[in-house]
Parts: sequence; C-alpha cells; structure tokens
Amino acid sequence: MEACNNYYYATRDPLGRDGDFTTAPEISQMFGELVGAALADCWTRAEQPTDAVYVELGPGRGSLAADALRVLRSAGFAGAGHLVETSPVLRALQGKRVPDAQWHEAIEDLPAAPMLLVANEFFDALPIRQSVEGIERRVEVIGDGLAFDRDGVIVEQSPAREEAVSAIATCLVQYGGAALVIDYGHERSAPGDTLQAVRGHRYVPTLIDAGEQDITSHVDFEALGRSASGVGAKVTPTVTQGDWLNRLGIGARAASLATANPERIPELEKAVDRLCHEEQMGQLFKVMAIHSPDWPAPAGFET
Ligand code: SAH
Repeated sequence: MEACNNYYYATRDPLGRDGDFTTAPEISQMFGELVGAALADCWTRAEQPTDAVYVELGPGRGSLAADALRVLRSAGFAGAGHLVETSPVLRALQGKRVPDAQWHEAIEDLPAAPMLLVANEFFDALPIRQSVEGIERRVEVIGDGLAFDRDGVIVEQSPAREEAVSAIATCLVQYGGAALVIDYGHERSAPGDTLQAVRGHRYVPTLIDAGEQDITSHVDFEALGRSASGVGAKVTPTVTQGDWLNRLGIGARAASLATANPERIPELEKAVDRLCHEEQMGQLFKVMAIHSPDWPAPAGFET
C-alpha cells in the first residue's frame, strides 16, 4: 500500500473533477476558512505565541492552506507555513497557492516551535496491515494478478498512522500547539475490512492496477487518540464533520458569502450540503483535535 501510494501521488494530481476524488477543501473555500478560524481562535486563547507556525500534512493542491492562512493572517498570525509533502507534482501546485511555504519530507523534519497543524485526508492514505485470526493477511501474485492469501474476520492496524500521530503529539507536548485531524473513519476501534480503491470517482477492486488508483482505508480515531495520549497530549472527543462545521458556524459563513455574492447562492447551498449532510460527507468524516496540555482545546468539540 505504501509503495502504491508513493508512486500514485508522486506521478499525478489526483484531485478534482478530472482526477480520481474530490476533498472538502476542493468543494468550498468555507472548509479551509473554518479550519483557519478554529486554529486562530485556539492560538488567540493560547495568548498568541509569535513563534507558532502553521503546519499541514499532505496538503494536496494547497487550497486548504491558502484558505486557512488567509483567516489566520487576518487574526494577526504571522508564522510561516510548513508543508509535509512527498509528491513533487503536488509540491509544485502547493507553491502556486502558498508561495512562501517551506516543505518537509517527514513530520520529524518540522521546526521546534508551537504548531497549528491540520491533516485532512492524510491519515487514510498511510498504509495499514490486515490480519485474520492473528495472522497477517498478505497479497500474493497468482498468474497475472494479485490476490489476498486468506479471508475471514479482518482486523486492521496501522503502525504508520500511530507513528505519525505520536510524532505530532510529541511535538505538541514539547513546544505547544494544537492539531486537527479530519478523515473518513470510525470513532471506536472495531473489526472490519475497510481497504478501498477509488479511480475516476468510482470504487474499484483494490488489487488491480497497483499505483494507478487511490488506495486508502478508514481511519480508526480511537487508535489515533491512544497514540496521542500515550505521549502525554490531550485529545478531544471525536465528532462528525457535519456537527463540527455547524458548531464552527458554516451556516453564518455561507450566509455572509451569499449576501456578498448572490449569484453564488446555489453553489454555496450545494457545498454546505456536501460537507455537512449525513448522507454525504457529514457523518462518515470525523474530526478530532490533539493539543498540548498547556493549550486550550480548539472549538467545535464541546459535548
Ligand atoms: N489534504 C489534501 C489532499 C489529500 S490527498 C486535501 O484535503 O485536498 C493526500 C495527500 O497526502 C497528498 O498531498 C499526498 O501527496 C500526501 N501524502 C500521502 N502520503 C504521504 C506521506 N507518506 N508523506 C507526506 N505526504 C503524503
């Protein structure tokens, strides 16, 4: 999965109508603006440390970074933008949206500073391991194709995700800051096969055309939370994307954009529906924040 995705992202821009899938920041500027507003509010309540930096993991086309940084700048945040991205194709696109960004290959290369971090649809792309009755499920070459070597009740684990979360959480504990993790997945760990492949906006079989389609799996937020608390960070409850965006005021943001641009009303209504409705992204997508014990929890997670 790691090799397939490294090749896949390094060789194309997979996002948007002509690509394989569309993400929340590509649906509407409101998504990134609300991420920016949540981070700006948290930074303000943490007494606006001037050495804080904006960090994004897997920033795609850079749309989320551009929208979030616009709001952060208007709140007085002057910190640099640090992007963790391995794909040269996507780095070039990000450079157009965030010209003064600094790029890093890995979380470990980030500067020693308080961080305002966001990861949208980053963790789903990190590799998982599947096992059946405690035995790892492997992929075999059979004839011209690939096949799994065993079936049954599947349990998924992702050492790569756990390592990434503990690296972030360790930075937050050491230097301060808050991180927003947004992805499709489940609040509680549970057995089940969630490996999926998408190409041209359709689900396709996972083991064909390795490296030519987007392979992901659902994110286990309970496991992420365990890794973050294990190194001493604070973790908020996991909430649905629909509830989170509503609490952050997507309705008010859409109304103010509609007043200023009445011709955009149909597009704005459609965007709110896609991002928040439970049959669209509102329920399947979850949001969790991880923060330093010295920083307040970001808004939107109140229970
Ligand atoms: N966050 C963006 C894009 C999501 S697609 C959006 O919401 O639109 C996944 C992103 O993660 C891409 O930018 C991809 O190149 C990047 N990525 C995938 N695996 C990575 C890894 N191991 N390290 C750094 N970036 C990675």
